[in-house]
Amino acid sequence: MKNWIRKEIQQLSAYNVPDSGNAIKLDAMENPYNWNMAYTEAWLEVLRDVSLNRYPESSANEVKQQLRSVMQIPDNMDIILGNGSDELIQMLALALNDEGRVLLAPEPSFVMYRMIANFVRMQYIGVPLQVGDFELDMFAMLEDIEIYQPALIFLAYPNNPTGNTFSIDDIEAILETATGLVVIDEAYAPFAEHTFMHCLDKYPNLLVMRTLSKLGLAGVRLGFLVGSPEWLGQIEKLRLPYNINTLTQFSTVFALQNYEILKQQTEQIKIDRERLAIELEAMEGIHIWPSEANFILFQTKNAKKVFDRLKARKVLIKCLHGFHPTLENCLRVTVGTSEENKIFLQVLEQVIEV
Ligand SMILES: *Cc1c(COP(=O)(O)O)cnc(C)c1O
Repeated sequence: MKNWIRKEIQQLSAYNVPDSGNAIKLDAMENPYNWNMAYTEAWLEVLRDVSLNRYPESSANEVKQQLRSVMQIPDNMDIILGNGSDELIQMLALALNDEGRVLLAPEPSFVMYRMIANFVRMQYIGVPLQVGDFELDMFAMLEDIEIYQPALIFLAYPNNPTGNTFSIDDIEAILETATGLVVIDEAYAPFAEHTFMHCLDKYPNLLVMRTLSKLGLAGVRLGFLVGSPEWLGQIEKLRLPYNINTLTQFSTVFALQNYEILKQQTEQIKIDRERLAIELEAMEGIHIWPSEANFILFQTKNAKKVFDRLKARKVLIKCLHGFHPTLENCLRVTVGTSEENKIFLQVLEQVIEV
C-alpha cells in the first residue's frame, strides 16, 4: 500500500465528521427545522412517481429551472449542478490545474479549498486575513496575486468559519487584478445582505457558487455554479454523468416549489442569530465577531475545555482552536431553534471560565 497510494494522500487526514449521538447539534451550519407532517406527506407523494430502476435525467433541467425561478440567476448565465458545492470545487480544480498552477484563498476559510488543491496536486497559497477583524489583507492579497498569478481564487462570502463578509470594494479590486478565475462561494447567501450574482456580466473572470445545504437541504447534496456559457461549457465536461441522483432531483424540485417555507425558516434563523449574538456579547469572558451567516464565531478562555464540557452536557459546537493562528481559543456555534439556542446559552454559562 505504502508504495502505491500517493504520498500527499497518505499525509492527509480524512475530513472528520464527529458522531453527534443525541446531542443538540450546533456544529455543522444545518437548518434546524424539520418539515411538518403535511409537507412531508406531499413530498412522499412526489416520490411515488420516481423510477429508481432508471438513470436520473442527466442534465437535471427541472432542478435548474426551479433554481432560476427562485435564486435571481441572470438569464444569460449558465448553471452547473454538483453533488454539493464540494464537488464543484473539485471540478474547478481539475479543470484549471496544470503544471505550476496555483489555487489561492484567504485563510482561515473553508478547508475544502486546500484539501481539494491537495487531491489534484495543485499548488495552494493561503493568504492570512487581517488579525482582529478577519477582513482581506489587501496588500498581501494583491501582492500574492501578482507573484503567483493564481489560476483559481476562492472567496467565501460570507466567510466560513469567521462569519463576516469581506469589503465589496476589496473583492472588486481582486476581480480587476486577477487574470485567472475568481469564484465567490456564496454558501451562506440565504443569511447575507449582498450577492455578487449581478456582477457576473461586469466581470468575465467571475463565477458564483451556491449550495442548498445551508438553506435547509443539507441532505440532498446540491450545489450550483453560475457563470458565462464560455467558462461553464468547459467545466461541464468534467461533470460525471448522473452526478445528481433521482431522489435529489425530485426532492429539490419539490422543496423549491415550496421555497416560501425555506425562506421563512432562514428569516427566523437571522432573527435568532441577532438574539444569540446579543446574549453572547453580554456574557462575561466572551468576545464575538459579527456574522452574516447562520453561525457565530466567538472567543473565550480555554476554548478546548469549554468545548469538551459543552459536549459532555450534550451540546455539540465546533472548536476551531488550532485550525489557524488567528483562531486561537475560538469556537463556532450554529444558530439552532430558539429552544436549542437557549439551552446552549444556559450550558455555556455553567461551563465558561471567566
Ligand atoms: C458548507 C460550505 C460549503 C459546502 O457546501 P456543500 O454544498 O454542502 O458541499 C461550501 N462553501 C462554504 C464556505 C461552506 O461553508
